[in-house]
Amino acid sequence: MSFYVYNTLTRNKDEFIPYKEGKVGMYTCGPTVYNYAHIGNLRTYIFEDVLKKSLEYVNYKVKHVMNVTDVGHLQSDGDEGEDKMALGASREHKTVWEIAKFYEDSFFEDCTKLNIKRPTIVCRATEHIPDMINLIKILEEKGYTYVSNGNVYFEIDKFPNYTKLANISIDELKAGSRVEIDPNKKNPLDFVLWFTNSKFSNQIMQWESPWGRGFPGWHLECSAMSIKYIGEYLDIHCGGIDHIAIHHTNEVAQSEGALGHKWVKYWMHAEFLVVDNGKMSKSTGGFLTVAKLEEEGYSPLDYRYFCLLSKYRKQLVFSFDSLSEAKKGLKKLKDRIATVLIAVDENDLVSDEKIERYKERFASYISDDLNIANAFTVLFDVLKDEELSNKEKSILVEDFDKVLSLDLMTMENGDSKVDEKLINKLIIERADARASKNWARADEIRNEFIAMNIELLDTKEGTTWKTK
Ligand code: AMP
Ligand code: ZN
Repeated sequence: MSFYVYNTLTRNKDEFIPYKEGKVGMYTCGPTVYNYAHIGNLRTYIFEDVLKKSLEYVNYKVKHVMNVTDVGHLQSDGDEGEDKMALGASREHKTVWEIAKFYEDSFFEDCTKLNIKRPTIVCRATEHIPDMINLIKILEEKGYTYVSNGNVYFEIDKFPNYTKLANISIDELKAGSRVEIDPNKKNPLDFVLWFTNSKFSNQIMQWESPWGRGFPGWHLECSAMSIKYIGEYLDIHCGGIDHIAIHHTNEVAQSEGALGHKWVKYWMHAEFLVVDNGKMSKSTGGFLTVAKLEEEGYSPLDYRYFCLLSKYRKQLVFSFDSLSEAKKGLKKLKDRIATVLIAVDENDLVSDEKIERYKERFASYISDDLNIANAFTVLFDVLKDEELSNKEKSILVEDFDKVLSLDLMTMENGDSKVDEKLINKLIIERADARASKNWARADEIRNEFIAMNIELLDTKEGTTWKTK
């Protein structure tokens, strides 16, 4: 079965053919860790998680690399404004290192709550300064750089077809990115590879380099780290749509300039999450976080479900009303699944053929540029299908949840408090039922435990339990 993805580079839904058969190198731009991730950022990470799991579902082996930006990102994606890390540090009266650690940890905690799988490799910019310096050296040898007023710049006029990813003219790009006139630059779209003559005399994160003590430009880290961990040929590069015109365009110039050949085969971008038709942004403040959603009574998976219901390439308008609808929808779906799980019987028939047919339908939708809305219809069809046994249904739900990751096999017990007395009573009753070969009663009790979200652990010392 072919897998299709919408490729920003070709503006087309292309058949996915990786550089190496069966294997995928995937790079996703990670968070700038100077503040909490907002739910807009997380929409992009959910999309990337679904993409990776969909590729794995159709049997690709995916190596996923993501950076953590802990240095070099100025307020604008060009070279203007304050250093975001320094802003975070002065806002909270902490060191930049403390800020980076705190917000990196909180980012991954949010990801865990959203069932976003950790990338194969997570790499911090500050731990890859020598790799970045090497890349600048290669670019320098090949004549792509110049030094002006202490900083090292990439000269975009030396790179043919600089705008191929943005797919617009240089003038449109200039107008769109609203770059300030910087007398140090030959072309306003040239960008910094290494700052030495920083505007920030108090810049704490600085390293020695052949061009003087300083720090790298933001775009450099993604080129350097993706080449280091994935190699010279990258199958998929993802990010939010805002990165196309500047960050990813500059990544292409740096990487292809240094490598001397085409670098990324498929560029995939998630559209924005917006509120009241405005962009949700960290720099303007007032943004929503996972913690805020939880405070308002929503689970992170309600939000994941909300995101999955719409196409990643369409703008998604957030409102608490629509999140409530998603929450109700997910509860209804899980309640429906719970009735199936409770009714599963060891004697249920399992037909591999029927199961394969449904899996194939599911795979065909996710392979169609992540048509998750249609993939959900397969799940609903499974639940409705009277020809399927409960066991078959549960196998399929568990299988689809590898991609959807909505904890569909975990039953809610309404009140999260567990009734220990009842559990212990049932454990004894189950042991008695088994001893007297009353399998029907033993099965019934097992289903009650499933419904309560309790996992039994049979050990030499006897049966213990834990909540799932
Ligand atoms: P940042 O931490 O600002 O570098 O952004 C992390 C990721 O979130 C990038 O891939 C951005 O393109 C993406 N992003 C930023 N704002 C939004 C938004 N409102 N909706 C969706 N993705 C976004
Ligand atoms: Zn990047």
